[in-house]
Amino acid sequence: MLLLNLAEVARGPVRLRGEVASDAALWENTGIPLSGPLRFDLDARSVGEAVLVRGEVDGPIESSCRRCLAPVMVRLHDTVDMLFDRLTPEERNELEGEVLSLPERGDVLDLGPAIREQVLLRVPDYVLCDESCRGICPRCGADLNRQECGCTAPSDDEGPWSALKKLRFE
Ligand SMILES: [Zn+2]
Ligand SMILES: [Zn+2]
Repeated sequence: MLLLNLAEVARGPVRLRGEVASDAALWENTGIPLSGPLRFDLDARSVGEAVLVRGEVDGPIESSCRRCLAPVMVRLHDTVDMLFDRLTPEERNELEGEVLSLPERGDVLDLGPAIREQVLLRVPDYVLCDESCRGICPRCGADLNRQECGCTAPSDDEGPWSALKKLRFE
């Protein structure tokens, strides 16, 4: 679970390790294409009144090649760095995204939404199955990595001026 006990953090650094299943409620309606659990390994510590959470997230993302649409597995593995503080509503607007809010009351900080945001920012939106992927033929739809389709680039014979050209030479 991504719940942090703030009373514990006040006493000393807390390490939080675990994983969030790919079908967990946390990912609902986010469009994050996790194909396996997201692992996290975080370290939380007090910095004055604030709480600094640092560590790593690691999980498999199932994307698709932008050229040929083949499924492509991408490993999302990155460091995260999040600062939580008690913010007034004005500060919350000003610091949007840079400093996150600590709960108004209670000792439990749910890191779920912050981690979700961090993952969302890291989902790649341009993926290729291979740098040399030849993609799909725009004319016949053949996967050009597997076959030559025989289509050629549009020639003069088929352009809008072909009828005119023929007229000219006849
Ligand atoms: Zn491809
Ligand atoms: Zn073709």
